[in-house]
Amino acid sequence: MDQRSRVIKPHLQSELPIISHGNGIYLYDKQGNQYIDGSSGAVTASIGHGVEEIIRAAVQQAENVSFVYRSQFTNQPAEDLALKLSEWAPGDLNWSFFVNSGSEATETAMKIAIQYWQEKGMSGKNKVLSRWMSYHGITLGALSMSGHILRRKRFNALLDQLPSVSAPHCYNCPLNQTYPSCQLACVHELEVAIQRIGPENIAGFIAEPIIGASGGAVVPPPGYYQAVRQICDRYEILFIADEVMTGMGRTGAKFAIDHWGVQPDIMALGKGLSAGYTPIAATLVSDRIIETIAAGSASIMAGHTFSANPQSAAVALAVIHYLERNNLVQQAQIKGDYLKDGLNRLKKKLPIIGDVRGMGLLQGVELMADHQSRKTFPLKAAVTQRVVQLAMEKGLIIYPAFGGLNGIAGDAFLVAPPLTIKQDELDLIIEIIEDVLLEVQ
Ligand code: PLP
Repeated sequence: MDQRSRVIKPHLQSELPIISHGNGIYLYDKQGNQYIDGSSGAVTASIGHGVEEIIRAAVQQAENVSFVYRSQFTNQPAEDLALKLSEWAPGDLNWSFFVNSGSEATETAMKIAIQYWQEKGMSGKNKVLSRWMSYHGITLGALSMSGHILRRKRFNALLDQLPSVSAPHCYNCPLNQTYPSCQLACVHELEVAIQRIGPENIAGFIAEPIIGASGGAVVPPPGYYQAVRQICDRYEILFIADEVMTGMGRTGAKFAIDHWGVQPDIMALGKGLSAGYTPIAATLVSDRIIETIAAGSASIMAGHTFSANPQSAAVALAVIHYLERNNLVQQAQIKGDYLKDGLNRLKKKLPIIGDVRGMGLLQGVELMADHQSRKTFPLKAAVTQRVVQLAMEKGLIIYPAFGGLNGIAGDAFLVAPPLTIKQDELDLIIEIIEDVLLEVQ
């Protein structure tokens, strides 16, 4: 037997370094190379690596009990975590359904939205509308809501819906309009779609408050989410915020939707919930929905064997305590502004940078073939791949995102380091990005 890796990796023809350990914002491979985790993996490791108290929380819970099955028992860490999340979440999102990945969290959100209307005797309301340039996960239900063409295309025959509205992407508006003279045409498009499909067929509308993997930290124009909320209310449609990437302090608020003071009916969390120390994700649900289901069938048709795992819940709880004690939500705001200033300075110097955007420590950089005409590079994110590769060779990990409107052309990357990063480490990230872009442009 040869000694090749038997782990199925994203690219079967290329090997990946084996990481031996991590400390703070750094990862180290078996060869002794050091990498700055400049995107917290996939925007996940939000408190950095090797935090002692999180490791202790995992071990302590393992010593008590590592697993109980969710339909036979509940457990104290899951109870405490649900309570803590109800304190963190806006409005009356007081209930947590625990799962293991962001995909499961958005798919569970979809199922709960559909069930809610069934319980109210409106079983025709079973579609969840979504936007192009979105990513809600890789399982089939989550993928069916996603507007990420590259990730959908092999499975299109199994996906029974396509997104119905454009992304609110002002830098490269899919509707060829300009804010504010557009008067939020992208929200108007949502209303037109609802009227076309019929509100009696629609359970909910899902959106990433800030578009992550498929856009590169795209922030909508002012007033967008307030207008979305009004439309959802007008047509009796649930608003689902996919905060898998943006939640848990990443954008300088507890949840990105808090920046607009809007209250979703359902919220999906993942990634930063455990900061990557264990797999756990959650679907947060409002009182109104839970009370309706409790008064009806009283049973939610979702869940997984590992749901509400005590060890994962203990870890997530310890992560939230760590975020609170170290004031990391506010830190994300301050450090995010610093990072954005640095990236904007690069934008002035380097014509390849078309746009710098994002909130808190979720910043995106869009690369352009021609700055003036906003012409994208032609090949499937080939420039992004090169930038990401060169950055890695220089010891910096950044996350490739597809900046294009259709997920095929367009180049962008995310800079989203752990919220614990220090100022001189941010300077180093900016320096390496400058070196890389000078080499590419
Ligand atoms: N939703 C959003 C906004 C995401 O960014 C992701 C992952 O990148 C997901 C859902 C899916 O999460 P997971 O990869 O944990 O299944």
